[in-house]
Amino acid sequence: MNVVESFGLGVSYRGTWALRDCTLAVPEGHIVALVGSNGAGKTTLLHCAVGLTAPTTGEVTVLGGIGAGSPDALERVAFVAQETPLYRHITVRAMLTVAANLNQHFDRNLAEARVAALDIPLDRRIGRLSGGQQAQLALALALARRPDLLVLDEPLARLDPLARHEVMAVVMSAVAEEGLSVIFSSHVVSELERVADYLILMSHGRVQMVGMIDDLLSKHVVLNGPTDDAERVAESFAVVESQHAGRQTQFVARIDASVEIPKSWVAENISLDELVLAYLREPSATAMSGPLAVSANRAGR
Ligand code: ATP
Repeated sequence: MNVVESFGLGVSYRGTWALRDCTLAVPEGHIVALVGSNGAGKTTLLHCAVGLTAPTTGEVTVLGGIGAGSPDALERVAFVAQETPLYRHITVRAMLTVAANLNQHFDRNLAEARVAALDIPLDRRIGRLSGGQQAQLALALALARRPDLLVLDEPLARLDPLARHEVMAVVMSAVAEEGLSVIFSSHVVSELERVADYLILMSHGRVQMVGMIDDLLSKHVVLNGPTDDAERVAESFAVVESQHAGRQTQFVARIDASVEIPKSWVAENISLDELVLAYLREPSATAMSGPLAVSANRAGR
């Protein structure tokens, strides 16, 4: 089952495309990192997936074909928005009551257990909690709905490194214990590898790279060699990005197992950080696996 599937999805604001031609299929059971520079369209994509924004073109479904934003989807998808939507003037206890009243399947015991584990006092006003505690509380409320899909928009943005670690640890244990799927947007690329196993990279409103992180890393290398030879070598590889420093050239390139590394060139494994940066610096480069799968599915319908 795909937890999110979109076909030709686009959102235009007064003639400017915030999201364009977005076709992808995200399989279930992953922690998906949605990465991209400011204004790339991450929030727009997430808002379409949770039914907050109506597409201008195309369509998006969740959890195996349910319309985004439909009553069934709202029951099974939990969304934590960027600005952590909590009522600041009420206490944590009152917030739990509000959440329980608004959500049919809200597990209040689970929410209270998580709040207790975080040492957040039930009688404290939410506005008095730290940014990290508010993020943790919003996450606890979302998880207590026992969703099949958890969507988090920039959950790490306002947090210090320790709080980031704690928030993602909670997400990872929820995935391990309950088998839900998670999609979260982030700028904190250096921490993604530890947390996420699936990547969607966006640039200028378009999806630039999609796939399992291990798979993407194994299909790319950093190549170092003499500039004299660079033009010839570039012809045998799909070069994503090249940098020249005097007589040395460095390529980030896509490879397959059958390709031989040329003599006097050295291939090194690439880190996720390097891979993401190389693609962000070259917005016309793409590495896609999902869209083809979606197109094939649809052709067979
Ligand atoms: P960031 O990382 O800065 O949060 P993002 O990748 O989430 O960015 P979006 O918020 O989806 O990007 O915005 C994509 C583009 O759409 C931006 O150029 C933004 O200015 C524009 N945009 C988003 N919402 C609206 C709106 N309601 N009206 C007009 N333009 C909008």
